[in-house]
Amino acid sequence: MLPLRRLAVAGLRRDRGRGLASSGAPREAADAVVVGAGVVGLAVARALAMAGREVVVVEAAPSFGTGTSSRNSEVIHAGIYYSPNSLKARLCVRGKEMLYKYCAERGVPHKLLGKLIVATSAAETPKLDMLLRNAKESGVDDLRMMEGSQAMEMEPELQCLKALLSPSTGIVDSHSFMLSLLADAENLGTTISYNTAVVGGHVGYDGLELHVSESKELQDDYVESHVSPQLTLLPKLLINAAGLSAVPLAKTFHGLSQGCVPTAYYARGCYFTLSQSKSPFSRLIYPLPEDGGIGVHVTLDLNGLVKFGPDVEWIDGGMDPVSCFLNRFDYSVNPQRCSRFYPVIRKYFPNLKDGCLEPGYSGIRPKLCGPGQPPTDFVIQGEDVHGIPGLVNLFGIESPGLTSSLAIAEHIVSRYL
Ligand SMILES: Cc1cc2nc3c(=O)[nH]c(=O)nc-3n(C[C@H](O)[C@H](O)[C@H](O)COP(=O)(O)OP(=O)(O)OC[C@H]3O[C@@H](n4cnc5c(N)ncnc54)[C@H](O)[C@@H]3O)c2cc1C
Repeated sequence: MLPLRRLAVAGLRRDRGRGLASSGAPREAADAVVVGAGVVGLAVARALAMAGREVVVVEAAPSFGTGTSSRNSEVIHAGIYYSPNSLKARLCVRGKEMLYKYCAERGVPHKLLGKLIVATSAAETPKLDMLLRNAKESGVDDLRMMEGSQAMEMEPELQCLKALLSPSTGIVDSHSFMLSLLADAENLGTTISYNTAVVGGHVGYDGLELHVSESKELQDDYVESHVSPQLTLLPKLLINAAGLSAVPLAKTFHGLSQGCVPTAYYARGCYFTLSQSKSPFSRLIYPLPEDGGIGVHVTLDLNGLVKFGPDVEWIDGGMDPVSCFLNRFDYSVNPQRCSRFYPVIRKYFPNLKDGCLEPGYSGIRPKLCGPGQPPTDFVIQGEDVHGIPGLVNLFGIESPGLTSSLAIAEHIVSRYL
């Protein structure tokens, strides 16, 4: 197959200014198409290429990993929080093992720091016991319950009544990880087409049709509320790994039962960084989970930067699909939000000084449950669910998606090839 970029440019010349229905865009057969070059899309592309498939990755942004994959805590999660036997639990535990092995083999910077989940009041201590039981049922058997005094000996700046130590939690340089996945995929012949957005799809008798357009053209088109595809791809296998846009994208697939497409919710998480240069902690410190997230925790990155976050702010997901595809989400961090961080952090870090938190960055969780609703699992939907051969939708790939990425890819290859 010719590089998609050349086809897109050819299509652009032929089709400029024409609408979706009457585009007459060039049509090109493809073997496997992955929408989205986040950590999950890249891991899937690599796994498909390793399985001998001819892979094209279509990415709306000018580079890989500019979505949620570069806006997270970069924590390699152990698999403590998720319902036993859920996809999140199974793929996190498996993904953690695969990720540590991959990083060690490929020289991807990472660190096995360990983490303490802390109870700071008597009312919280039974929740630690519940987490311990939950983790054991999910196959995480290295956790250790400890008295507050033991934990505070390990971390002198910490204050808590009881703590759960997770020795296998760590951190990873997510950019280096993605770069390495990309290199693997490209070395196996994968084509990646940046600045190229999937703007819709069609499931016909002859299979899948994917409407593709240059992102730049979409920005122009958007003013006129007019989306014109410049190329129609006809893939045998289509993986929708569009992250925050996976649900809006699936809604554009004519012929896919809309009953199979869940409602998308979005929850922004902001981080504040600690202005002091020396980290007060050598491990990751987590409070107990809250509604929508796992609590404003202390994360360290590989450069020693200390971050607190992410908090949970439910945001309106009512953007038009094109704005979603172009990642026009609001990632600004309101400096005023730090007033909520200080009291929460001081519960476990009482020496946190006034004025030492600085606005950092934010990420947005692609959620399938709204405020106050019970947490949902990852949704990996293939023909067995929606009846369409060759289509795999990935919905709700929030945390622990980075940790689980290699296992998600393994799952897709074993189940849908
Ligand atoms: C605040 C926060 C903290 C987190 N912390 C952790 C953590 O510590 N550990 C962990 O394991 N996980 C964590 N996660 C989860 C993890 O970051 C995600 O699960 C993971 O990055 C999802 O990757 P992805 O490839 O599915 O999505 P993304 O990285 O969002 O990639 C999707 C890609 O699709 C592209 N795209 C979208 N629409 C289109 C279209 N129509 N056409 C072409 N391209 C398109 C986008 O440009 C984007 O590049 C966190 C998430 C958040 C929000």
